[in-house]
Amino acid sequence: MQPHTIVIGAGIGGLTTAALLLKAGHRVTVLEAHVYPGGCAGTFYHQKFRFDAGATLAGGFAAAGPHAQLAEMLGLTWPIRAADPAWVVHLPDGRSVTQWADPQQWQAERLRAFPQAESFWHLQEKLAQASWDVSTRPFPWPPRSWRDGLTLARALRPSTVPAIPYLLRTVGSLAAAGDPMFRAFLDGQLLISAQTTADKANALYGSAALDLPRRGVNHVHGGMGALAETLVAWIRAHGGEVLYRQEVTAVDMSAGKAAAVRTKRGLHVAGDHIVANLTPWSLAELLGEAAPRSLRREVRQRTPTWGAFTLYLGLDASHLPADLASHHQIIGDHTRPLGEGNSVFVSLSDAQDETRGPAGTRVATLSTHTAVAPWWQLRHTDKAAYEARRAVYAERLLAAAETAVPGLRQAVRLALPGTPVTFATYTRRALGMVGGFPQTSLWHARGPYTGIANLWLVGDSIFPGQSTAGATLGGMRVAAAVQQAGPRSVWVTKKRPLPVSHSS
Ligand SMILES: Cc1cc2nc3c(=O)[nH]c(=O)nc-3n(C[C@H](O)[C@H](O)[C@H](O)COP(=O)(O)OP(=O)(O)OC[C@H]3O[C@@H](n4cnc5c(N)ncnc54)[C@H](O)[C@@H]3O)c2cc1C
Repeated sequence: MQPHTIVIGAGIGGLTTAALLLKAGHRVTVLEAHVYPGGCAGTFYHQKFRFDAGATLAGGFAAAGPHAQLAEMLGLTWPIRAADPAWVVHLPDGRSVTQWADPQQWQAERLRAFPQAESFWHLQEKLAQASWDVSTRPFPWPPRSWRDGLTLARALRPSTVPAIPYLLRTVGSLAAAGDPMFRAFLDGQLLISAQTTADKANALYGSAALDLPRRGVNHVHGGMGALAETLVAWIRAHGGEVLYRQEVTAVDMSAGKAAAVRTKRGLHVAGDHIVANLTPWSLAELLGEAAPRSLRREVRQRTPTWGAFTLYLGLDASHLPADLASHHQIIGDHTRPLGEGNSVFVSLSDAQDETRGPAGTRVATLSTHTAVAPWWQLRHTDKAAYEARRAVYAERLLAAAETAVPGLRQAVRLALPGTPVTFATYTRRALGMVGGFPQTSLWHARGPYTGIANLWLVGDSIFPGQSTAGATLGGMRVAAAVQQAGPRSVWVTKKRPLPVSHSS
């Protein structure tokens, strides 16, 4: 009999799992709360502009990258075009460092900017190669069964062995001290790619994350949301269902297994497997009384992860320099923690993409990491103070962005701020926490298991974590786990120490 898998949420992780299970012969139903797919990697319309909600850098499309692999498995084509440089980092001392994908240009640039750091870059590239090499064979991490162990062993190659001594190291421990701008550069890059800074980022994970520009970044025609839309089109064309405006509000349990879901609009869908494209907090909330004790303990004990403050700008393109790189990171004061406007990422839409707004316009997404709690506290206790803080952050982001994009302020036709409250509303992520867990330790990485045999987590909360490429790898891994579980298999959950993560 054809197994039926229900996927809660049409983010990149959920859609990837859905498409792969559909291809493997499952009946698939994706239920999405919102009116469009993509979640944090979605693109929304507002007053004739199309804004990227969160993700703007599209990596993982080069040969053997997660998106390239998925395209090959499904036989689909992504609407992308290579962008080089990937982005430009603006350092606190006024210098800028261009992250070229082209290896020669990148080597010349890093030699110019950080002449003492060549040995670091050689090691970083070696470790990145080993990490990417393993991750191209989506492996079950952390392993939980003999089958996982076997799959993992098969993913290893002789070239992986030199990376083993670095399993417990941090990126910071590999980088020479002495040049505060080099540290600021590393911290800025790791914050956006590993959710933590060099002193805490795992060396293997961090090295792979630092390789992102070298592995190529792309413009996505129509905005990042076009990736999710491509997957939705594929799923529908192959007989799967993707239903919008269907927020799942309850999971029915039967004999200790998840049997069906109910939506706010009264839909009741029964299935053999349920894949939740949610954070552990959102899943625990959804399960209510049925949440396994281990999941309840996990969400009680975990440190909240980062949120994002965003500023979406509709721009008159005539005020913008024509030959400017599309993506910029501006690092403010390296002696203060990054985030809260002290490190700002700016992405302009592709100048050649006419779909993003009326003729003669472009759009931009500006973002910074922010702690979620203060926003909620003000939102609950002092609406005026919440709005004032929002205005202060919007100005902080605009001021930082102006240093990288001359003419930006004059170009603004429309400005829309987004706080963790906005992210919670539009992505349904608990407290608007985004980007998954800081990648401080491979041993404490979270897998897809929930404590309920036929219910899996997918998305950036599971290893390898954040980014569309990370969520795609996670989706591949969950699709494989669901197939291995079969319609009736019962997963035995072992007790293990709770992974507690720490935000930087
Ligand atoms: C500001 C910002 C900038 C970023 N920049 C980049 C970048 O440049 N490059 C990059 O690769 N990544 C970036 N990321 C990270 C990337 O966007 C995410 O890691 C990735 O998109 C997460 O995918 P996901 O599978 O976890 O799903 P999510 O994006 O979390 O989507 C989950 C989906 O499930 C739906 N949903 C939730 N609850 C329910 C429910 N109860 N019922 C039905 N549907 C539900 C939501 O509406 C949503 O559509 C950024 C993130 C942010 C916030």
